[in-house]
Amino acid sequence: MSTDRQAELAESLERVRTQIRDACAAAGRRPEEVRLLAVTKTFPAVDAALLTDLGMTDLAENRDQEASAKAGEVASMRPDARVRWHMVGRLQRNKARSVVRWADEVQSVDSLRLADALAKAVRAARERGERDHPLDVLAQVSLDDEETARARGGCPLPELPALAENLTQSGDLRLRGLMAVAPLGTDPAEAFSRLAAAREKFLEDHPSAVELSAGMSGDLEQAIACGSTCVRVGTALLGRRGLASP
Ligand SMILES: *Cc1c(COP(=O)(O)O)cnc(C)c1O
Repeated sequence: MSTDRQAELAESLERVRTQIRDACAAAGRRPEEVRLLAVTKTFPAVDAALLTDLGMTDLAENRDQEASAKAGEVASMRPDARVRWHMVGRLQRNKARSVVRWADEVQSVDSLRLADALAKAVRAARERGERDHPLDVLAQVSLDDEETARARGGCPLPELPALAENLTQSGDLRLRGLMAVAPLGTDPAEAFSRLAAAREKFLEDHPSAVELSAGMSGDLEQAIACGSTCVRVGTALLGRRGLASP
């Protein structure tokens, strides 16, 4: 049964990789500059395990509870697989302690309060001897207007310097770069070029935080054209999610 699914996933993976290669060629970039994250939310752990069989190492989820269980299942199904789990969804501060147990990177850090909660959770885990390294994080910036930003998440651009400075100061978090989601119902190319301009300024202050997570199934070409180093792909790899899913 899972061999059919494996063939299906192999085919879609090849298609997405080709799409990334073509987008890189069109943008005059090298394909190695763009990492592919498989967004496995709402799909079962066995799909994630099959993706690791196909060589995928970076998997992403958007809800703590689902991800925590799935990461555990994948670890027991594929004990030898080297998987890096990324949190890409909106995160409540009271989930910080749980998230730092399964996530290798949190891409959705969008407020000082959340940054503090994550830093505290990492510090507590270090003190208990449960981990020995800081947590990789991206600052999520909003490309929406202010009101929509409050509903969809992301740090408004004027607040980014303060957030980034806080993340840089923390010994428990390691700022790797920026993440963004294109606004709904508008031209992603326009939004991603605003993102690219903001990132240029950001890099002057944080030259080593070179990661730019942008682009999903529907807009990865535009994101790659604007400098994305990491595309987060769900639907194009795994298929459509159920109607009730976020
Ligand atoms: C679900 C999700 C994705 C993947 O979206 P697709 O359109 O299915 O590729 C990417 N980023 C975030 C933050 C998501 O929540």
